[in-house]
Amino acid sequence: MRVRFWGVRGSVPWAIPAAIGHGCNTPCLEISDEQTGAEIVFDAGSGIVGLGPKIGGAPRELPIVLTHYHWDHLQGLPFLAQLYAPGWKPQIFAPILKNYDVAWVNTIFQSPFFPVPYEHLPNRPSVNLIQPGPLRIGGFDLSAVPLNHPGGALAYRVRGMTGDVVYATDHEFGNPAFDEPLADFARGAAALILDAHFTPEELPQHKGWGHSDWRQCVEFAAAHDIGGLWLFHHKPGRTDEELVRIRLDSQRVFPATETASEGEQIRL
Ligand SMILES: [Zn+2]
Ligand SMILES: [Zn+2]
Repeated sequence: MRVRFWGVRGSVPWAIPAAIGHGCNTPCLEISDEQTGAEIVFDAGSGIVGLGPKIGGAPRELPIVLTHYHWDHLQGLPFLAQLYAPGWKPQIFAPILKNYDVAWVNTIFQSPFFPVPYEHLPNRPSVNLIQPGPLRIGGFDLSAVPLNHPGGALAYRVRGMTGDVVYATDHEFGNPAFDEPLADFARGAAALILDAHFTPEELPQHKGWGHSDWRQCVEFAAAHDIGGLWLFHHKPGRTDEELVRIRLDSQRVFPATETASEGEQIRL
């Protein structure tokens, strides 16, 4: 199994030269299984725009699993090449969150926000609703648990032949009702991708924003038998220099820590 990062920033794809080393696109992951050819995409932030043209082969189904509906996880979707290229069948897997409305995915395509209404898309995606628990999507076995985030979000664990990857972004540590199930869910994962939007110094002014700091992430990884940790959802404008410092500080607590960057791959 191969995990590839196409977007690693939170909130907004604000690109500045000092941060371009890690990349400035918002969340998108591609997971592929070289043995079966299966492929699955997580989140449709601006990173998905770069992924589209790189997906080769004959037109086929393309499952895209969303964690939640905040702009940064959905804003790339209208620009996904496979919505327009003949023969492709994109499928959206959309979590049922609090106050869920089936029209949420359509909304970002509606006038005046986008020129092509959802119902006129050449390859209008199917929308499949998903809930926490075990799931089988696009040839992968996965499972989901809720995260602590305004409006809700889901974390996913994807089973691999030699180890699992857990994708848990947009989560604020500190509420045991979420943290304890997440610990059971993530325990023993070969790779863990966590929301490290803030620094420990910034976090106190941002309680309730639905994000965590890197120290909480490394302590969580160290306590739950994790193979490798990737800090993710970097704050927009956080420079490469700052991220390198965060990585070095993190590695003192949990040596197998990386700061996720665009184009980076994890092989499991
Ligand atoms: Zn986000
Ligand atoms: Zn969010």
